[in-house]
Amino acid sequence: MTLFEHAGKLLIVDCGVLFPDESQPGVDVILPDFTAIRDRLDDVSALVLTHGHEDHIGAVPYLLKERPDIPIIGSELTLAFVAAKLKEHRIQPRTVHVEAGDTHQAGPFGLEFLAVNHSIPDGLAVAVRTSAGLVLHTGDFKMDQFPLDGRLTDLRHFARLGEEGVDLFLVDSTNAEVPGFLMSERDLTPAIEEVFSTAPRRVIVSSFASHVHRIQQVLDAAHASGRKVAFVGRSMVRNMKIARDLGYLNIPRGLVVDFKKLGSMPENKITLICTGSQGEPMAALARMANNDHEISLAQGDTVLLASSLIPGNENAIYGIINKLIDLGATVVHKGNAKVHVSGHASAGELVYCYNIVRPRNVMPVHGESKHLQANAELAIRTGIPEKNVVVARDGVTVDLLDGRASISGKVRADLVYVDGAAVSGTHERTLAERRTLRDSGVITAVAIIDPDTNNLAEPLEFLTRGFVDNQGALKAAAEAAKAALAREKTGKIDDLGDVENVISSAITRRLRRIYRQPPAVITVAIDA
Ligand SMILES: [Zn+2]
Repeated sequence: MTLFEHAGKLLIVDCGVLFPDESQPGVDVILPDFTAIRDRLDDVSALVLTHGHEDHIGAVPYLLKERPDIPIIGSELTLAFVAAKLKEHRIQPRTVHVEAGDTHQAGPFGLEFLAVNHSIPDGLAVAVRTSAGLVLHTGDFKMDQFPLDGRLTDLRHFARLGEEGVDLFLVDSTNAEVPGFLMSERDLTPAIEEVFSTAPRRVIVSSFASHVHRIQQVLDAAHASGRKVAFVGRSMVRNMKIARDLGYLNIPRGLVVDFKKLGSMPENKITLICTGSQGEPMAALARMANNDHEISLAQGDTVLLASSLIPGNENAIYGIINKLIDLGATVVHKGNAKVHVSGHASAGELVYCYNIVRPRNVMPVHGESKHLQANAELAIRTGIPEKNVVVARDGVTVDLLDGRASISGKVRADLVYVDGAAVSGTHERTLAERRTLRDSGVITAVAIIDPDTNNLAEPLEFLTRGFVDNQGALKAAAEAAKAALAREKTGKIDDLGDVENVISSAITRRLRRIYRQPPAVITVAIDA
């Protein structure tokens, strides 16, 4: 989520979610922190959505719960995806449909939209004109020169704005570390066709629910090999219906059938296209690998992983691939076949963009610190002075004043966790406790206390879950707890709560000498 402020008004560009990693167990999605604008929601002139990916639209329902009538500006497919999402939250949005080349005035912000090519159709870059200068935000983009839908990133439009003078250029950094140029989506077709023509049994394709072009390639290959296709997973079924109804997906008559009707069909005539509950492919595959999915894999099935291997999660993904192989499946992924190409411009493409736009100031966006830094270095190599390249992490504010961009401060930008229906009820402390439970288990100590002496009336009893069953360790812990209680001055212990604290800390301290990471300890003290 990016926020622009001018003349007392606010413009929001994108409002997405982050998906949790292994250090955030039990979290469904992570929202941007609205704290900095919560008191100023009435000043928001509009929300611009550059494209329909979850990391750009996923948090829109949560923003609109705070102010439902914020106008949402976007292209046809983006608005359709966000409207479907909002319908599930029973929100009827105010939308403004724009197309590449259009202009629109939102409060003091003069908006202009540019076609960009990405791993979802209908992506837009947005130019923001105010009396303070011209800002150009690429959104997510790449420069496929032979895109499947023929919709190129409009470099001529980028160049026109460059001629006018771009004061601040916000540029997608995701692939700034990847040298050279991406291959075209079109070049994946032979490898995808090969999978379909050689697979002995079912082909199970796992993809992002929004990757309309890749799914079109899969549909075409399935059709050519005489197979039928079923979509599996709520968000996949929903998005493909939207994409087909709006003409972004071309489905030959009779190709797609209901998942439940596939039972009677020969295995080598079946294709399943699936995704996870958040439209994320690995979640579905993980469930299949654990036999916890409506698709149960069998010997001879082929799994086509038509998506990226999410950086940072490689180990988890290879673990899933190994399990799928153990179940008898052949797994085709970007590591062993040309079945995926990224949706983000790599270094060569980014350099082209800098040379075409020739911006006064650059601010890398989208990606982790190393991606932002790599992108900043590319900008500097094209001749943009280092002092005009601003690397700002989440929450950092940047002022554009008299043609010069510079860091001006910071606002609160925490990660806001959604766990089931609870928004922001989950905090770092909760996650730390969950990680302890996951990594080391839990010990409950039951203490019967003599109310006169505040000492143990009976030996401690332990209940453990997920804890290495080590009687020696528990015996040592019990002795440490007993000694700690005996050491306490009577006056210092007021109630059973104090007793519980003394016992818990003594056990934790003792176990830390045996285990690098001691288990969570809960003590329940009862009067004898
Ligand atoms: Zn995207």
